[in-house]
Amino acid sequence: MTSETMIAAMLYGVRDLRVEEVKKPHIERGEALVKVKTSTTCGTDLKIFQRGYVEKVIKLPTVFGHEWAGDVVEVGEGDTWLEKGMRIRAGNSAPCLQCKMCQKGKFNLCEDMVWLWGAYAEYIRVPARTVLVNAQKIPAHVSYEEAAMAEPLACVLHGAEEAGVELGDTVAVIGAGPIGLLHVLVARKLGAGRIIVSDLIDERLDFARKLGADETINAKAKDAVETVKQLTSGYGADVVIEAIGQPATWEQAAKMACKGGTVLEFGGCPPNTEIRLNTELLHYGEVTVMGAFHATPTHFKKAMNLIASGTLDVKPLVTRRLPLNKIKEAFEILSSSKTDVKIAIQP
Ligand SMILES: [Zn+2]
Ligand SMILES: [Zn+2]
Repeated sequence: MTSETMIAAMLYGVRDLRVEEVKKPHIERGEALVKVKTSTTCGTDLKIFQRGYVEKVIKLPTVFGHEWAGDVVEVGEGDTWLEKGMRIRAGNSAPCLQCKMCQKGKFNLCEDMVWLWGAYAEYIRVPARTVLVNAQKIPAHVSYEEAAMAEPLACVLHGAEEAGVELGDTVAVIGAGPIGLLHVLVARKLGAGRIIVSDLIDERLDFARKLGADETINAKAKDAVETVKQLTSGYGADVVIEAIGQPATWEQAAKMACKGGTVLEFGGCPPNTEIRLNTELLHYGEVTVMGAFHATPTHFKKAMNLIASGTLDVKPLVTRRLPLNKIKEAFEILSSSKTDVKIAIQP
């Protein structure tokens, strides 16, 4: 291997992930080259590994991974706040600040977003716009692993904010994967009075209880909607959060809410899917059903600050560490394991 190349995971297709020697990224004005110290696996990555990208959107083979933290090793020309040797993390998106959505303050819905993929590699090139609007220095006491998890936490903070979780609320979370578990942590911090989590795997429900869930439902053994109703004297939850990404659980979520409640459909479903909603639920029940996508640079900063201040402890979510050359094994483990949540990948 020469200094012009590096090791990176390349996705060739469904379950076809290879670790290869590729060209090391070349940086231009305003950009930064970062040596990745840790990247963390994400539910979205797992979905892409298991069912592939939306065709035509991404050309295969492609770099992969978007949760990372590392050291700046090269800074492009021009004025930037970055310095060589700085420990940084960056969001996987940088809004343009110019389009209609950005002008409305909906930076997460920017129509000209600069995306950033390629965290499962020795080096990552951070685009100039990302350096400017969505990168942060990592405080010395925060590990690379924790800093990498600012990305999923940012998305969860955005979702919780949209759903308006309030002090004393009963919050039902469908799905105890990494995102569902982050929702449990955040809802607890926001003052949820009671948190009910449903999943199909007992081990995951145990984990949810350790992170603060009050009640858990194994949806294989019990009807989740009925059980939430029973646990809430027939009313349903004030806020329901779907963290799986299947039309069936999106529909289930809507049925779990109390009158005047909010349903946050958080998990991304497969393309071209639809759900059925009972009109009475929305009319007579005044149930609000909403989605949430991604996060804004503000949420990324907030996430990093909440981790740095110790307000939210994301450390327990990393259940295993593996070197970059075992990346495929990492995703195979996540496909079948009942106890793994996130795996930290170290190049
Ligand atoms: Zn992620
Ligand atoms: Zn924009």
